[in-house]
Amino acid sequence: MPSILSIGAGIAGLTAARKLMQKGHTVTVLDKGRGVGGRMATRRIEQSRADHGAQYFTAHNPEFSAFVEELLLNSIAGIWPVSGPDDDRLPYIGRDGMSTIPKYLAQGLNVVTGERVVQLEKIDRAGTPGWRAIADTGHTFEADQVLLTMPAPQALTLLQDSNLDPTDIDLNALQAITYTPCIAVMAVLSGPTNIQKPGAYWPEQGPVAWVADNYQKGISPNQPSVTIQAGGAFSLAHFDDDLTTVGQTLLQAVASVVPPDRVVSFQVHRWRYSLTETRHPEPFLRAHTDAPLLVGGDGFGPGNVEGAYLSGLAMAEALG
Ligand SMILES: Cc1cc2nc3c(=O)[nH]c(=O)nc-3n(C[C@H](O)[C@H](O)[C@H](O)COP(=O)(O)OP(=O)(O)OC[C@H]3O[C@@H](n4cnc5c(N)ncnc54)[C@H](O)[C@@H]3O)c2cc1C
Repeated sequence: MPSILSIGAGIAGLTAARKLMQKGHTVTVLDKGRGVGGRMATRRIEQSRADHGAQYFTAHNPEFSAFVEELLLNSIAGIWPVSGPDDDRLPYIGRDGMSTIPKYLAQGLNVVTGERVVQLEKIDRAGTPGWRAIADTGHTFEADQVLLTMPAPQALTLLQDSNLDPTDIDLNALQAITYTPCIAVMAVLSGPTNIQKPGAYWPEQGPVAWVADNYQKGISPNQPSVTIQAGGAFSLAHFDDDLTTVGQTLLQAVASVVPPDRVVSFQVHRWRYSLTETRHPEPFLRAHTDAPLLVGGDGFGPGNVEGAYLSGLAMAEALG
């Protein structure tokens, strides 16, 4: 059976890798990060935990709903009864933070972290076309087939740096996929917030789009913490500003619900790519190369956590 390199250990890449492994393929997952999960990210600060990427997700598709059932049965996911734009759907979270879910998916997979792939090369593998991925560490990884699941602009850069033939893949389709940036503040608190149950707050105006009380959310039982996410316009305008100053501005903006005298410490994270703005309608893009190369992730299909999962599933079906 063909061997596969899945580049990106977010929910899309892990879902694809898990399905392909179940079908009997030899799969290696590579990620530039220190751990798995990508934008399903949870940070530990002091005794607290904070989700600083995706906050919750909903399920519409039957296959994704079945996966969510599996997560609930195994106590990997829970329900956080916030109301959001998808009011008719239950909002799901990772039981100990969002990263619990990609960690669950990664069980049993061969995942290599700390490897940023900077180039792909077409190679001959004993008479069969294949791929070599070159990482910035100098390490190389070879396989018969490749999946790329990083945000589309990063996939575009990788493909352009790989000097593939321009007719190999529709780079214009990748270029059309866009994301909003997001600046997130994670603050450790000495006491509770003033946010009403169940612990989410979205101001109607100002720089902040969303505040999550991670204690009420149930992921930070030992020490209260909040995640404050700035809106797209503020994040874009202040993306390269001094992080401490930006953090202080965002904390000040929510002082009515997060009393300043309860803030023990805070950290700021910049997401250059957070939510998709424009997506490709299909669940993935296929290159016209002899050895299969598919590009997917949340930039394809319905987007968000659910869309990324479905993209991963569709890629695994296409290669199986
Ligand atoms: C602030 C924020 C808030 C969000 N809120 C929500 C929400 O409430 N609900 C919701 O459903 N979704 C939300 N999302 C979106 C959701 O997190 C994503 O849609 C989903 O996690 C994307 O999964 P993915 O696998 O497609 O990509 P990612 O999770 O981005 O995974 C891609 C992986 O590729 C790796 N990578 C990138 N380049 C390379 C390289 N060259 N070599 C090796 N590895 C590489 C990255 O390290 C990453 O781990 C939010 C995202 C952010 C950032």
